[in-house]
Amino acid sequence: GKPQVVVVGGGAGGATAARYIAKDSKGEVGVTLIEPTRQYYTCFFSNLYIGGFKEMGQLGHSYGGLAASGVNVVHDWATGVDRDSKTVALAGGGSVPYDKLILSPGIDFVEGAVEGWDLSAQNAMPHAYKGGSQTELLKAQLMAMPQGCTYAMVAPPNPYRCPPGPYERVSMVAHYLKANNPTAKIIIADPKAKFSKQALFEEGWADHYAGMIDWVGDDFGGGNVAVDADAMTLSIDGEVTNVDVCNVIPAMKAGHIATLAGVTDGNWAPVNAHDMSSKADADIYVLGDAAQQGDMPKSGYSANSQAKVCANAVRGALTGSKVFPAKFSNTCWSLIDTNNGVKVGATYEATEEKIAKVDGFISATGETAELRKTTYEESEGWYTGITADMFG
Ligand code: FAD
Repeated sequence: GKPQVVVVGGGAGGATAARYIAKDSKGEVGVTLIEPTRQYYTCFFSNLYIGGFKEMGQLGHSYGGLAASGVNVVHDWATGVDRDSKTVALAGGGSVPYDKLILSPGIDFVEGAVEGWDLSAQNAMPHAYKGGSQTELLKAQLMAMPQGCTYAMVAPPNPYRCPPGPYERVSMVAHYLKANNPTAKIIIADPKAKFSKQALFEEGWADHYAGMIDWVGDDFGGGNVAVDADAMTLSIDGEVTNVDVCNVIPAMKAGHIATLAGVTDGNWAPVNAHDMSSKADADIYVLGDAAQQGDMPKSGYSANSQAKVCANAVRGALTGSKVFPAKFSNTCWSLIDTNNGVKVGATYEATEEKIAKVDGFISATGETAELRKTTYEESEGWYTGITADMFG
């Protein structure tokens, strides 16, 4: 029969890879996508939902377009990978054989990363760092917050999914509170001494949300944090604060199936930059957040960019089609307030050692309102473009 590609995870990396291989191989390669959810809710723009700029329905995408473009979509969990027999086991029973396996399972959380928090606390103290119901829960808690009370965030250590994500979220929470609960306070306990686009966020917070946001970075003990989900307290360096919402974003690692497949080294899965193949197994590829690839941030844009390089390489390996030199790009936009968008981005190339940054750009402080609005509109165009690129 024809060569078979199995893709685990139908997110930014996996959906793109599945769609491109199916589309470009014109039936020469069989593509099966394994993804448990029937509706994928993007994490990208989920902060805009929290800020009231998007509805949850606008963030949901189904797999009908992929099925229509020839991808065999299986809604199930992959529970194991047998690298000798080259099969993926499914939670619902049975297994799927592959010639090439692409893993793009996103992230899981490092156990014990925040003292007092584990997955059983995620309803009291949501992470909202996977799309869908967690995001809805966090917004419901924000809306139920009594006047003048405290919203806390425990930010994650590097490396993690979407470097500016926690700080865009704080901006969107502040935007909501300014209109609905103006005497409320936001406290961020951060294990890092600095963070992505810090000068831009700090300028925006001072201009738009003066006096509301207190960032406690690692120099001041922000890394020395514990929470108590029953008492609803946050403790920083031994000082205990009562909080009303506590958004705990723990340290991250590759989605568990990457560990089960034996392609991780520590928390992440090392890959070769030119095709995203695993350093542990030439027939397995790892995309997106789960991959340890070098200089690219963990973002949807990065995962989509890596998926196209991988799809081209996998198709070439299986059918002899032309393989182009690997080129990657990324931009991370963040919304600070209405029509006030900022961005950071770069282009990358593959070296022997890693995905290496070539050239970068970042928004400046003090930009005009007009430029910030244009930047926000660019992000809207990007969202429409990437979701069409993923799902058809
Ligand atoms: P995902 O998109 O998470 O896809 C993983 C998929 O794998 C999931 O659908 C999951 O159900 C599935 N899966 C997991 N395990 C299994 C298994 N065992 N079997 C089968 N399926 C499995 N990125 C941007 O580029 N721009 C942004 O503005 C942006 N904003 C963000 C804001 C927030 C608040 C957050 C949290 C993230 C943001 N991101 C943004 C980051 C972006 O969402 C991720 O980097 C991106 O989704 C990574 O793609 P992925 O394919 O690695 O993982």
